[in-house]
Amino acid sequence: MAFDASTLLTLTIALAAASALYLAVEWRSVRESSLLCWSLGFAIISIGSSLALLRSSGYLFIGIWFANGGLITAHWLFLLGVARFTETRLSRAWLLAVPIWLGMLLLPGWPLWSKTLLVVQSLLIALFTLQASWLLRPHGKSLGVGAAQLRVILLLHGLFYLCKTLPALVSGTLIDLAAFRGLIIQVSLVEGAMAIMLIALSMTGTVRNRREERIERLAARDPLTALYNRRALEVRAPHVFATVAAGNPGALLLIDIDHFKLVNDYHGHAAGDRLLVALSEMIRALLPERAIAARLGGDEFVILLGGASRGQIEALAAALRQQFQHAAAQTCATPQAVTLSIGANLFDRPPASLAALLEQGDVLLYASKRSGRNSLQLVDGSRSTA
Ligand code: GH3
Ligand code: MG
Repeated sequence: MAFDASTLLTLTIALAAASALYLAVEWRSVRESSLLCWSLGFAIISIGSSLALLRSSGYLFIGIWFANGGLITAHWLFLLGVARFTETRLSRAWLLAVPIWLGMLLLPGWPLWSKTLLVVQSLLIALFTLQASWLLRPHGKSLGVGAAQLRVILLLHGLFYLCKTLPALVSGTLIDLAAFRGLIIQVSLVEGAMAIMLIALSMTGTVRNRREERIERLAARDPLTALYNRRALEVRAPHVFATVAAGNPGALLLIDIDHFKLVNDYHGHAAGDRLLVALSEMIRALLPERAIAARLGGDEFVILLGGASRGQIEALAAALRQQFQHAAAQTCATPQAVTLSIGANLFDRPPASLAALLEQGDVLLYASKRSGRNSLQLVDGSRSTA
């Protein structure tokens, strides 16, 4: 294979520098510390590869072992970045690599010193990279598509370094570190350039994916109570409607706090906020499986559920009203009782739209308000007898 090591090294310097810059720019907008670790890692690879060019000028110790030490440090920083990304604490044992490497560097002279150093270097890099890949495995929470890509690339890169130790262990294998001769070194240079591109791209992907998922999650939630907002309810309601049929009715409960303004007036807006949060927690605790709860705005909440029955809705409304009235009386006494009015309807045909269903709920809710508040107005539009 016609092969020009210095051209490939120059390419590696450029790719690593560009990756370092790209990840640093990304860090400026996202402020994820993992990006900074990764950027620093690539900057060190760029510097290390520049030092490696010095081999041709005869600076062998710096050109070989400083450069290779840089490569180990860069992979350690990649591992540190992944640990930050996955919010994992790295054991201090990972720092042992530094004394191991320095100790071996300072003890030259024994037979097969440079080959042993090469094996140790490859093993350390393989260990860091495989550990980083292991930290990115799916466990419990999803880390996103970008993280899955990075995990596979790091796994392949780590396995490559593990395999790289084998030829070095076979006696008689040509490894000329000074002149970049020997198949292992040449393949390694090509793999290095490819790995830089793939690792840097997937590193940016991991953070971007997670940021997008976070933004999506935030956009679906009411910031005060963390319940779904109206937009999220609109997206999820059709899934509930699709399960509705004769014998499997759905139900919508529209809930509004009675005299809520009095809480704000007598106890301040913050007390009002706390009561809204308390109600959302009660709703969450009483919510049947697969039901959806949302805050529509102000003091208005909604519960949408499939597989409902009249008895279940009455029990749910009674428990909510009783718990809420008790909590409101305890925390924010007002001239008129702060209670709940609820409008609920059961249906066994998918409604025309969520808006149409909410309109029916609104009519019932105001019937409850007109009849003196603190009550449930229920219309059973299902044909079931439950
Ligand atoms: P009604 O018995 O007829 O329901 O009257 P109400 O006093 O509960 O008032 P209404 O439902 O008509 O209006 C809701 C009030 O809730 C209006 C506003 O002052 C208050 N409010 C809306 N959003 C918030 C909020 O995020 N925090 C607090 N503390 N108050 C809010
Ligand atoms: Mg109200």
